[in-house]
Amino acid sequence: MKVFKFGGASVKDAKSIQNVAKLLSLYKGEKLAIVISAMGKNTNAFEKILDASIAKDEASFFAELSLREAFHYEILDALITNSASAIYDEVNVIFNSLKNAYSSDKNRNESYAEIVSIGELLSTKIINAYLQQEGFNSQWKDARKLIRTEDKFLDANIDWAATEQLFTNHFISDFTTNDILITQGFIGHNIDNQTTTLGREGSDFSAGIVAYCCDAESVTIWKDVPGMLNADPKWFDNTIKLDKISFREAIELSYYGASVIHPKTIKPLQNKDIPLFVKSFLNPTEEGTKIHSCTKNDNLIPSFIFKKNQLLFSITPKDFSFIGEENLSDIFQRLSSVDVKINVMQNSALSFSVLVDEEKVPLKEFLELLSEDYNVKYNAGLELITIRHYDQDTIDRLTKNKRIILQQRTRETARIIVAK
Ligand code: ASP
Ligand code: MG
Repeated sequence: MKVFKFGGASVKDAKSIQNVAKLLSLYKGEKLAIVISAMGKNTNAFEKILDASIAKDEASFFAELSLREAFHYEILDALITNSASAIYDEVNVIFNSLKNAYSSDKNRNESYAEIVSIGELLSTKIINAYLQQEGFNSQWKDARKLIRTEDKFLDANIDWAATEQLFTNHFISDFTTNDILITQGFIGHNIDNQTTTLGREGSDFSAGIVAYCCDAESVTIWKDVPGMLNADPKWFDNTIKLDKISFREAIELSYYGASVIHPKTIKPLQNKDIPLFVKSFLNPTEEGTKIHSCTKNDNLIPSFIFKKNQLLFSITPKDFSFIGEENLSDIFQRLSSVDVKINVMQNSALSFSVLVDEEKVPLKEFLELLSEDYNVKYNAGLELITIRHYDQDTIDRLTKNKRIILQQRTRETARIIVAK
């Protein structure tokens, strides 16, 4: 059996969902586990509903909710020919539960999981109903009964042993009577059966989990790009598709910021040697990229990744002590207490430099946290260029007319912080 994953862009409206059905008809006779995200940008919209409920802003809560209702009913009306179909009641039940969520006394994170998971519940229910209407032998499966996580509502880690058991007992056997099993990305449940979430963009990871637990033959992530490219087509015209790369290379690229696949997706596949394909839902018969265990093609083409809006902190102990293990471990602890993720770091005798995403760092909190014991200077508006399998030509081309602030090179990777 194969695992397919469809993200928000591939199911953003009725036409796109019809395209998914067309794509699936190319796979008639195959057993498919399909993981689907919320439609389009609905997760952002449900986050707004959550914010309104936390702020006790009843007017915007119900205004946003009406917009979500209108969006989903419009798609239902465009796809479902029988207006008495049970799917209308099911969608109605989901929206009623959302209305009740306004007056719930749950804490923020618990409410987050309860409210934001609705995007995936709606998309999978509606698409399953549509596929059944179109003659596919499909069944809806509840990820909140299959993917077991720790007791944490955001970014929860997976309990792999329990999840594997749940898939063995309640998922795999359903293929004897169904060709297609449809489930939600991004969501799971804790041991008390409360809904949990796996982190934004987590649906790719869900596909990896399903494949791992079912010993799938392969995973395909269907995207609006032809595969993994050597650079982001948003910034570059002459991108090259990577035909085949290794798991390790894919992890490195997504770690440095290539946004095609969520970095957590690959590890479970690598552990069971399950190949991952990235293909275009617009041209489904084209090759795409194959990510597998073979490392042979990894260094054929330099890949580059840009991260804009970077902030470089330079942290110096006030007591004139040198930067050593003790200072470093103290600084790391303070960084992690405000959830700051480090993109690049470097130390000298007297100072420690860290580069972080500007939008992700709570600047005031961070400066307060350090200011008693450290002098902190920072430089904003920088850019981080990462080049895998670099050569001097590529470095020169990408840094032309830019001021280089800091540079690090290993055998495979060059990382260059530049100012415009
Ligand atoms: N719907 C979730 C999000 O937008 C998960 C995903 O699409 O991967 O983050
Ligand atoms: Mg995505």
